[in-house]
Amino acid sequence: MAKRAGDEGLCISFTEPLMLFEYSLEVFKLARQQGLYNTYVSNGYLTLEALRELKKAGLDAIKIDVKGDREVYRRFCAAPSDEPVWSTAREAKRLGLHVEIVNLMVTGVNDQEEQVRGLVRRHLKELGAYTPLHFTRYYPAFKFNAPPTSVSKLEAAYKVAKEEGLLYVYLGNVPGHRYENTYCHECGQLIIRREGFKVLECRLVKDNRCPSCGAAIPIVGRYVSKPWRFL
Ligand SMILES: [Zn+2]
Repeated sequence: MAKRAGDEGLCISFTEPLMLFEYSLEVFKLARQQGLYNTYVSNGYLTLEALRELKKAGLDAIKIDVKGDREVYRRFCAAPSDEPVWSTAREAKRLGLHVEIVNLMVTGVNDQEEQVRGLVRRHLKELGAYTPLHFTRYYPAFKFNAPPTSVSKLEAAYKVAKEEGLLYVYLGNVPGHRYENTYCHECGQLIIRREGFKVLECRLVKDNRCPSCGAAIPIVGRYVSKPWRFL
């Protein structure tokens, strides 16, 4: 079906792909044989053994939600710790997967500056400055009624992450915001302009380089090189 629809790859996402772990192993193998890529949008709470099985089956990229610090996991996720999530991210990187981290910033849960700084420092230590970090805006849903995350708090988080040395920081769920875009880490030139899930403009030149300064942009080479590959 994916081939017929002209898709380039698969993504297993809502609500948590690990609920479909065995299915993922089967379908990723088939997709890989057909030249499709495979991705996961996950909470990252799995054993390293399971992660290696996914890689073997054909997983190419994983986006991991880091909910916050240990206290956030204990209070809001009924999970003992954030450690397994960072272990997953570290191992995914070591295995050569494309890794991105997302932090859903929830009003009154994980929106304090010291929480953001702690998360950013951990990200840097485990995954380095080039691994993208996204702060996404929360909206009230189901049993949680706190007001939506203020955009100024998201912008403050962006600033903290840049101050600490992260090179690819994004804001999400704020359509039209300039921090949805990708900027060159060397010269600041706009590289990819986005709105929501749409790419409006992509200025990457040959070998995924910045059109202004020539820096190699560590990004998935979708627009330049076919077949699809990771840098
Ligand atoms: Zn540049």
